[in-house]
Amino acid sequence: ASLYKIDGWGAPYFSVNSSGNVTVRPHGTQTLPHQEIDLMKVVKKVSEPKSSGGLGLPLPLIVRLPDVLKNRLESLQSAFDLAIQSQSYGSHYQGVYPVKCNQDRFIVEDIVEFGSPYRFGLEAGSKPELLLAMSCLCKGNPEALLICNGYKDAEYIALALVARKLALNTVIVLEQEEELDLVIEISQKLAVRPVIGLRAKLRTKHAGHFGATSGEKGKFGLNTMQVLRVAKKLEQSGMLDCLQLLHFHIGSQIPSTTLLADGVGEATQIYCELVRLGANMQVIDVGGGLGIDYDGSQSPDSDNSVGYGLEEYASAVVQAVQYACDRKFVKHPVICSESGRALVSHHSVLIFEAVSASAPVAQTMSSFGPGFHYLAEGLTEDAKSDYRNLTAAAVRGEYDTCLLYAEQLKQRCVDQFKEGSLSLEHLASVDSICELVSKAIGAYDPVRTYHVNLSVFTSIPDFWGIGQQFPIVPIQRLDQRPVVKGVLSDLTCDSDGKVDKFIGGETSLPLHELEGEGGVGGEGGYYLGMFLGGAYQEALGGLHNLFGGPSVVRVSQSDGPHSFAVTRAVPGLSCGEVLRVMQHEPELMFETLKHRAEECGHEEEIARAALVSGLARSFHNMPYLATTMAAAAAFCAN
Ligand code: PLP
Repeated sequence: ASLYKIDGWGAPYFSVNSSGNVTVRPHGTQTLPHQEIDLMKVVKKVSEPKSSGGLGLPLPLIVRLPDVLKNRLESLQSAFDLAIQSQSYGSHYQGVYPVKCNQDRFIVEDIVEFGSPYRFGLEAGSKPELLLAMSCLCKGNPEALLICNGYKDAEYIALALVARKLALNTVIVLEQEEELDLVIEISQKLAVRPVIGLRAKLRTKHAGHFGATSGEKGKFGLNTMQVLRVAKKLEQSGMLDCLQLLHFHIGSQIPSTTLLADGVGEATQIYCELVRLGANMQVIDVGGGLGIDYDGSQSPDSDNSVGYGLEEYASAVVQAVQYACDRKFVKHPVICSESGRALVSHHSVLIFEAVSASAPVAQTMSSFGPGFHYLAEGLTEDAKSDYRNLTAAAVRGEYDTCLLYAEQLKQRCVDQFKEGSLSLEHLASVDSICELVSKAIGAYDPVRTYHVNLSVFTSIPDFWGIGQQFPIVPIQRLDQRPVVKGVLSDLTCDSDGKVDKFIGGETSLPLHELEGEGGVGGEGGYYLGMFLGGAYQEALGGLHNLFGGPSVVRVSQSDGPHSFAVTRAVPGLSCGEVLRVMQHEPELMFETLKHRAEECGHEEEIARAALVSGLARSFHNMPYLATTMAAAAAFCAN
């Protein structure tokens, strides 16, 4: 566990049990030992065939843990409650979940349900997000906020106003000045009094990757001149009382509370100025940015971590708002945050299987090439002399000289091969010798490639897109010291489809040798987990090579005979479904192939029927590698 820093990034939700498997502590620090969920047991339950009592779902797999989600939400709430209480702050905290982080229906529904006692709401940034937030909040606390961010057209604004008519506590946050005219016009037409917020463009700049659009020249929000014009226009329209919220967002993963307090302080000054100008200000919305510790370092200098926890974050926000308001004798506002990453990252674990690994050097020596004695035949005189010099240097133990001759020999042989005067077996022998020499003098790169049944583009897009690192760990055999260093190579035909950077700046991951045949249920399989990927990855992931999303299961802690219950299980997109996304029509495709099978007529009736039913099955199966022969066997008549 210490090798993978699980105690750092995983606390308090992930640890390793006495069997060497990664376990989930679903209620964080309040988890009792018998409530821990062994992830290997979940893999077994989910992937074993139905005939053996499993759910028969293929990997890769996303395991959602609603208990962890609930714990995160409650921890965020109690961090603010504590800060508010201990600093005698005069109002309360009321968060919203930005659905862009993961729009999955069950995540949003869970958040609305778990957040209901705390008036926890939702944030939307587009029309479909608004539609889903509206319908989910119908079941939520009526005071929960529905924050409407993002660029808006007339339809978006009309929808947000309709949401107010439906008694949802909706706030239209102006992202651009032009939106105001639409809000005034449409609210009059719909005869509804809007609640308006505005997004301020702060001077405070977050220097990290996620802050690229913050600061004075940032992409979003209103500058001081625009803020003043909005206030004036609202006053002229007799609607200044509608302006009630000030929002800002300086980027995700804010590295330190110093930067945070700077931003919150600046925003609170604007808030106080709006109060002075007569707006009916009620809420300060500090946006997202509450970061998480992907590498366990808790360091503001790491690209994959932040230098604070939930308590420090909440305390810094409350203190900065309070300080600025008190100096201006302004009533303390309700504090809202749009914390997405910090809320949903932990509750989702991606599990995938390593299906094969590149061979170690010793194996290469025995598996390829006909042996050294054979080499001399067919080589040019120069190459023969390199080979003799190489062996002589090896006998003398002069390894650097060996390497020199090995490289020279290799180059000569490659040239010979290219002109057609050397066989593939000869070249393979030379390659094996060169690898052996490199290994002997320590120049050989010992990092092996593990092939994983996964698409990086679909499941870890932020690794590919922005180089973000996530903790990746084998979920079993952690009681055995890993002996191999490896990088992960995915299924796509793309050289970017690999993971070769890991937390802590590592360029390889400690791994175990693969054992047995692999396969379902964890018998011989080697399973890895990617943790903390619950935010953004699913929403951003694409269909490169037509690999769709993984299967998804919802796993709750249970006091029954097992420590967990699978309360929902959904397979990933089938081949037919991913084809449909790209406008293909699987039914027609199948008909075409079936027709061709009949036309080709050289198969017997039974064999042809098997072939056709195998084709039908292929449209229903998932695009990922199957670990059994079942799908291939379906094509055979017996
Ligand atoms: N609010 C807004 C306006 C955002 O753009 C974002 C994401 O960048 C968030 C909230 C969520 O931020 P985070 O995931 O850092 O909490």
